[in-house]
Amino acid sequence: MNGDRALRQNYEQVLKRIREACEAAGRPPDSVRLLAVSKAFPAASVLALSALGQRAFGENYLQEALDKIAACSDERSSAAAGRGAEAGPAWELSRLEWHFIGPIQSNKTRPIAEHFDWVHSVEREKVARRLSEQRPDGLPPLELCIQVNVSGEASKSGVAPEGAIALALAVAELPRVRLRGLMAIPEPTDDVALQRARFAALKKLFERVRAALDPQAARDFDTLSMGMSADLESAVMEGATIVRVGSALFGARPATLRPST
Ligand SMILES: *Cc1c(COP(=O)(O)O)cnc(C)c1O
Repeated sequence: MNGDRALRQNYEQVLKRIREACEAAGRPPDSVRLLAVSKAFPAASVLALSALGQRAFGENYLQEALDKIAACSDERSSAAAGRGAEAGPAWELSRLEWHFIGPIQSNKTRPIAEHFDWVHSVEREKVARRLSEQRPDGLPPLELCIQVNVSGEASKSGVAPEGAIALALAVAELPRVRLRGLMAIPEPTDDVALQRARFAALKKLFERVRAALDPQAARDFDTLSMGMSADLESAVMEGATIVRVGSALFGARPATLRPST
């Protein structure tokens, strides 16, 4: 009960932060989507947040994500069976949307292509090509963002800004994926001016990539995935269309749950 109340408060607080940032930026409040990053939290947390109206969830680690997606869909289908006739199209429309946001090994692309709606962390053509080849025919194209390394640290993932246009042109040609935009995870800093400068650099690169795409691909290219719990306001000021928020919703992650690869 207590945990549910805290989750509701956190959710309302994050939605309010996004609304106020949109207002400050002179942007419509529905121009930014919240992606709830549920890594390190169980399926029960995802279901509790989805009961409050959240649809889009982000995961970093493949095996953890696959287990959670299966557990959520089992739980939701038994809930739907219990509702009988109520479980119609409206229930299907409220289906959870899963976004993969972690590093991708090229031998692990198949389950990502089969179980996710979006991938934010494409940094190599080979991975994008495999995702396209492995996307099942019955599903809509997989929505992709290219991850860009905007702060230039050797340890961080993402294509170098100079490589983004060439990668985007290659990804836009693939049949079973749709190139939607760019994603970045800038180095954390409390310096708001620096936060904004990095997000602004990503936005500028986004415009250059879009100008290089053919008209149809340019229309699909509408997403800037940037901003997390600590810096979402700066990201919204600079044009984010998806903010990826974990700890501000679910609380601090256990320190033991770090990336394994
Ligand atoms: C963990 C993570 C987030 C969320 O970070 P918080 O600081 O908990 O909001 C966002 N994006 C990516 C890629 C992440 O790995």
